[in-house]
Amino acid sequence: MQRIDKIYLNGEFVTPHGEEWFCLYNPATEQVIGQVRLADQVDAQQAIAAAKAAFPAFSLTSKAERIAILTRMRDAVAARQADLLEAVIEEYGAPASRSDWMASYPVMVIDEVIEQLQGYEFEQQAGSARVVMTPVGVAGLITPWNSDAGFICGKLATAIAAGCTAVIKPSEMSAMQTQIVTEALHAASIPAGVFNIVTGRGEIVGAEISSSRDIAKISFTGSTVTGKAILRGAAETLKRVTLELGGKSPTIILDDANIEEVAPLAIAAGFMNSGQACIAGTRILVPESRKAEFESVLANAVAEARSGDPRHPETTIGPMVSQKQWERVQRYIRIGIDEGARLLTGGEGRPENMARGWCVKPTLFTDVSNDMTIAREEIFGPVLSIISYRDDAEAIAIANDTDYGLSALVLGGDAQRATRVAEQIESGRVLVNTLAHEPKAPFGGFKHSGLGREMGVWGLEAFLEPKAILASR
Ligand code: NAD
Repeated sequence: MQRIDKIYLNGEFVTPHGEEWFCLYNPATEQVIGQVRLADQVDAQQAIAAAKAAFPAFSLTSKAERIAILTRMRDAVAARQADLLEAVIEEYGAPASRSDWMASYPVMVIDEVIEQLQGYEFEQQAGSARVVMTPVGVAGLITPWNSDAGFICGKLATAIAAGCTAVIKPSEMSAMQTQIVTEALHAASIPAGVFNIVTGRGEIVGAEISSSRDIAKISFTGSTVTGKAILRGAAETLKRVTLELGGKSPTIILDDANIEEVAPLAIAAGFMNSGQACIAGTRILVPESRKAEFESVLANAVAEARSGDPRHPETTIGPMVSQKQWERVQRYIRIGIDEGARLLTGGEGRPENMARGWCVKPTLFTDVSNDMTIAREEIFGPVLSIISYRDDAEAIAIANDTDYGLSALVLGGDAQRATRVAEQIESGRVLVNTLAHEPKAPFGGFKHSGLGREMGVWGLEAFLEPKAILASR
């Protein structure tokens, strides 16, 4: 059993002032696998003070110095990749289809930030003014449990690239990954105070960071409800705020699609990260004219998904991260049935092969209308809905009839037609006949899926303020 009893303040592992302990579970066995001592408000204040004290000197470091720091950070995180892999299986229940990606993403994202920084010009001329991109100040980085190491590394690398110092508030549910990343960052000899990590309750530590006068910017990834609370907390001090929030992403299958070919893409998009992904394509829009045929192929594909022990090589869907999350998914399945959706496969309860663990049966509903609860709210589990449409215009209207706008997928036989449909979707990202990931592209959401963008030049500039300098000769 792992005991994590330190937070990271000003270049050192220290015992937190907070005294609450939080249990870590293996979601596949429901067994307690560790305990983490949580930071409290006092710890958050100390972390903010350390980052504030480190900012003046760090903000003056050169691009070359920051590239050197980020390169050390990358190498140190790469050296712990095997440990990260073990942690994402143990504390998330990530199956092989996901765990390799989760363990390698932190290194990939740091590499991407380094490349971005290498090509970035911090100064440009605007008429007679010299415009200097200056670091915004101390950044508060608040991350969710569902890919914590990746979010910590991506946000921190970008903050460092910009010359900001940071206070990181990871999810308490992913404390093992956080511990590994923290040890790696410590080994990278990053100057004291540049990053501080305080794992604690969102409503205590997260709220302190969101409202502190000494934090200039918040970069948050998590649910839409929490994002709105953070925005309210940040309003009084007019913080710069970037929010990466939830989604209810559409997958539009056009009537010229080869359903046998595209069904695996539609299902993989929906069941990404065992359904616990902000970008999961959970609304599958199919043409009325081929509905029965599409339903049958999609139902077969869902029935082939294996939900169970993440260490079993055939498992494609692991358990939900917590009992609370399992119960939430069960509640949504019940609501779907009660509101009149028709179950094609899956349903309530655990898969037959799992007596224990927070596994959900891969579930596919049809006859779903876009105003049903299961089509409107983020479920965050392997539960997909088929919604039928009459023509492309109606498919686009249904896809856009949502509070969210994070990701979308269009699948069709004619790539040009599919691209024309894609261009009309209100979403930060639209994929056409692919599930490829492009780390150079901006990532973020329309509408309630977020505010601002991460990655690429857009992500870097979210940590910078343009300063216009005009001088007489
Ligand atoms: P969450 O919103 O419950 O928590 C996210 C983080 O915010 C945690 O560290 C939590 O402790 C903290 N927090 C909670 N209340 C807070 C408050 N009042 N003030 C400040 N911080 C607070 O989300 P979660 O359950 O950890 O993650 C799942 C959610 O994240 C889903 O909605 C998912 O769609 C979203 N998500 C979005 C993206 C994206 O890039 N858009 C990526 C991954 C996950």
